Amino acid sequence: KLAQFPFVRELDGFDFEAQPSLDRGQIRELSTCRWIAHGDTVLFLGPPGTGKTHLAVSLGREAIRQNYNVQFATAATLVAMLAKAHNDGSLDKQLTILSRPKLLIIDELGYLPFEANAAHLFFQLVSRRYERGSILITSNRSVGEWGSVFGDPVVATAILDRLLHHSTVITIRGDSYRLREKRRSGLLQ
Ligand code: ADP
Ligand code: MG
Repeated sequence: KLAQFPFVRELDGFDFEAQPSLDRGQIRELSTCRWIAHGDTVLFLGPPGTGKTHLAVSLGREAIRQNYNVQFATAATLVAMLAKAHNDGSLDKQLTILSRPKLLIIDELGYLPFEANAAHLFFQLVSRRYERGSILITSNRSVGEWGSVFGDPVVATAILDRLLHHSTVITIRGDSYRLREKRRSGLLQ
């Protein structure tokens, strides 16, 4: 089964020295995939370029090596899929399909604000997977900003209530790794 990762990355290639806000032991614990066995949630929060997708892909690949089914999609893609299914009258079927992988990775939540209907569709997805399968979300927005991301504080609270119930929230601080590389090679001041 294809996970559709945007790129290939491994934890071995992650430079923890460059990201001192991350707890190496905590990432190592996640790489055991125990949280997936338990159906827990992981959130990676932080500014662009700080390695959220790198970590998500690395953990997803580790999960595949441990024989878990993994699906990777951006939040925008998922919401588009759900909206289309809703219009086609096949929402229930689509929710069932998206509930099958033991790990669903949702990348880039918060880059685009959701429309009201999208927030409600996303809520249905989270509810359907709740306590069945794991979700890993990356977002450039803090949990406190999710009300405005979803455009509906009540739905955002209901989504967060489920996501945060059995969860590890990892907040990454610091500068973009991409820009750091550019700065080093003299392309940026
Ligand atoms: P984000 O998803 O937080 O915007 P990415 O994970 O896409 O950031 O990281 C941007 C690029 O920089 C990727 O190519 C990624 O592999 C690399 N990168 C980011 N942080 C690190 C790091 N600490 N060590 C090695 N590569 C990194
Ligand atoms: Mg990313």
